[in-house]
Amino acid sequence: NITNNGASGKRSLGGRRNGNNKFVPPLLRNGGDSEDTINTGSAEVEMDERLKGLDPKIVEMIMNEIMDTGPGIDWNDIAGLKHAKKTILEIVVWPLLRPDIFTGLRGPPKGILLFGPPGTGKTLIGKCIASQSKATFFSISASSLTSKWVGEGEKMVRALFAVARIHQPAVIFVDEIDSLLSTRSSTEHESSRRIKTEFLVQLDGAATSADDRILLVGATNLPQEIDDAARRRLVKRLYIPLPDKEGRQQLFDIVLASQAHSLTPEELEALVQKTKGYSGSDISNLCKEAALGPIRNIEDICNVSADQVRPMSFCDFEEALLQVRASVSQSELEMYVQWNNNFGSLA
Ligand code: ADP
Repeated sequence: NITNNGASGKRSLGGRRNGNNKFVPPLLRNGGDSEDTINTGSAEVEMDERLKGLDPKIVEMIMNEIMDTGPGIDWNDIAGLKHAKKTILEIVVWPLLRPDIFTGLRGPPKGILLFGPPGTGKTLIGKCIASQSKATFFSISASSLTSKWVGEGEKMVRALFAVARIHQPAVIFVDEIDSLLSTRSSTEHESSRRIKTEFLVQLDGAATSADDRILLVGATNLPQEIDDAARRRLVKRLYIPLPDKEGRQQLFDIVLASQAHSLTPEELEALVQKTKGYSGSDISNLCKEAALGPIRNIEDICNVSADQVRPMSFCDFEEALLQVRASVSQSELEMYVQWNNNFGSLA
């Protein structure tokens, strides 16, 4: 069931959505028959020649649900990660912007892997690559391919690359890519083995065609699950670690920018110290929890005016620190460092 209406009645394809999804039509062919049309919710659009032979329903789904035309993001929206950002700019963003200069030896990788603990900004980076290189962004969770799309996953992968080819330059972001490329999936189920094979075929196709400007960005918290053959195809493997001191400082700046608070520079510094070991999303959750502090003592929330809500204070954060703890353990971190030493790319 590709419309995938679950019990909640909501379509869930696993790709993270931002709700601001405008349809961008594929290249139109003039004067064709009207049999192959795709319904995009707002309009019926004639299907591109290059999409013939693919299931129109799947193509429609990709365009409506997986192709992301929401607001772009900027490098400044991503805290810390200086090294990863610089590397990505040089090896993937510039080549996508200037394919005429980045040829031959300077040719870009077709697949990169972002690995590290959950909530450190891997998805943000994927999005940022797409918006900074003016590419179309496709975002899908690999586990939805193998679990929810049983029987359709293989067709889905083929269609995804075909649609991406039409919308070049394109970035295909695959979250939880380990579930697609693990050693286990090749033995576990015939269907997931086929999805994996199709995925590698498509990736190799994109890699050998010099004109294709399609970049695959895989993200994973479990890099050790990815098998050797798949790992070799993701030639650049970048460790996206927990934020360091500077990164945490920037995270607080970003998260608190739009919120009234009374924190002094010394108190902010104390928070940066106290959140050692927190991921970016832990810090974001901490601030959300602290933001509820000023609300808790208001007796009549229905009748209070917005300017009567006091700014967030250091006490709110101290309370929140008791509730929101670091989510990544030391042993997990050691595993990432070890894997980075063995397989990570330095630049
Ligand atoms: P991942 O893909 O690594 O699991 P995400 O990129 O989805 O993590 O980040 C989850 C949320 O945590 C983001 O929406 C953002 O609010 C926050 N976050 C995590 N890392 C960063 C970062 N480096 N800079 C800014 N925000 C971050």
